[in-house]
Amino acid sequence: MRATLIYGAGDVRIENVPDPTLREPTDAIVRVVRSCICGSDLWPYGSRPATGDGDRIGHEFLGVVEAVGRDVSGLAAGDLVVAPFVWADNTCDFCREGLQTSCRHGGMWARDDVDGGQGEAVRVPQAQGTLVKLPVAEDSALLPSLLALSDVFPTGHHCAVTAGVNPRTTVTVIGDGAVGLSAVLAAKRLGAERIILMGRHKDRIDLGREFGATDVVAERGEEGVERVRELTGGDGTHTVLECVGLKPAIETAFAVVRNGGTVSRVGAPQYPDVPADFGVFFRNITLTGGVAPARAYIDELLPDVLEGRVEPGKVFDRTVALDQVPDGYRAMADRSALKVLIRP
Ligand SMILES: [Zn+2]
Repeated sequence: MRATLIYGAGDVRIENVPDPTLREPTDAIVRVVRSCICGSDLWPYGSRPATGDGDRIGHEFLGVVEAVGRDVSGLAAGDLVVAPFVWADNTCDFCREGLQTSCRHGGMWARDDVDGGQGEAVRVPQAQGTLVKLPVAEDSALLPSLLALSDVFPTGHHCAVTAGVNPRTTVTVIGDGAVGLSAVLAAKRLGAERIILMGRHKDRIDLGREFGATDVVAERGEEGVERVRELTGGDGTHTVLECVGLKPAIETAFAVVRNGGTVSRVGAPQYPDVPADFGVFFRNITLTGGVAPARAYIDELLPDVLEGRVEPGKVFDRTVALDQVPDGYRAMADRSALKVLIRP
């Protein structure tokens, strides 16, 4: 079969790799129907040292079960399923607490001899705990939004949930990437009435407004902080959803959060230190967020997607075949695409 491998910064290739086979009785084989490129794939795409051997890549996919190991129940060949971006047994103590990203028997896609999602098929470890059945056909128009359940929508949702967003909280979302826009959608879904989106790309802001943003702040840095403060009577918002992962973004987050408020971050942090100094202490700011346990949220979010109440798949603005995945990476890296859907 063919799959995507990354050899170094800017060097993504489509190559033939061995077909996946059942190795453990808890495995399943899934033929990938839709996959996509994540903003976090752009970090290795921007900086991975060049090597002679490539690594598999991709951690968001949905597909059709082709085979299951003898210990897998509840799944059968022919089922359409979505995979969260971390695989997990869904039974250990961490999983039962809703923290499948810390599963004692789980792990990451495209690591330690586990397949990546950007290919024609995937061996899924801990299949029974990992995969969620989708009650639609393989050609459903809902596939993009169902694929968004793999990572981007639960990540935005996790940001909003950990920040404590509810109908009484005002919200600032930092970042108009796919995660930031998903955070807007999630905050709206949780009842927030005032959602300030900090972003500056026209198409993305338009989608942000469609998802529920009530105000847009295009300015950055000090100017952006001033603008959010102006919009909020000088105080900032109760919650700030930081969906970028760069130092200026987390600094802005602390500057626009209201005293007693909460900053949640889901952008994979590309900075070593959080600016939580005495001033932040004195203002009683809570810092939360982290990697989203997508598996914990899919059951809750799935009905809203199936019934069309939310359409997180609107973040996909380009579709490529597997052979064009390198073009997809380039398009996301140069920001001509927001998020790229892959049809293997
Ligand atoms: Zn577990």
